Amino acid sequence: MSEYQKPVPLPTLDTREYWEGCRRHELLIQRCLKCRAFRFYPRPMCPECNSLESEWIRAGGKGQVYSWTVTVRQFHPAFEVPYVIAIVELEEGVRMTTNVINCQPEALYVGMPVEVVFEDVSGETTIPKFRPIKD
Ligand code: ZN
Repeated sequence: MSEYQKPVPLPTLDTREYWEGCRRHELLIQRCLKCRAFRFYPRPMCPECNSLESEWIRAGGKGQVYSWTVTVRQFHPAFEVPYVIAIVELEEGVRMTTNVINCQPEALYVGMPVEVVFEDVSGETTIPKFRPIKD
């Protein structure tokens, strides 16, 4: 197996729990303990009520395509084009910037049902991506 060539995320104090969840193939999002609002990306303060108290919740991993773009110009040698960068809205209501895989770019549409899939790219890093839910 060749070594993974793409840049990998570096966990921070705010994102370490999220990336550790990905390694276990669990998609974690934060929920405010005061107003119960879900939030993503991980951060210390609730954008709804400014509370600093939160918990980690395992998201269901299903959502729908909110928007997307297709990258056709290669900007890094490790990224083969074309690929899809999408904003996926989870059933919990938060939106994640991600990749949609296992899908031809021309088949994408707003509202397409998708589910998370985890790509283990190294011993330390797992990247969550999304694929269409086949019905
Ligand atoms: Zn809150």
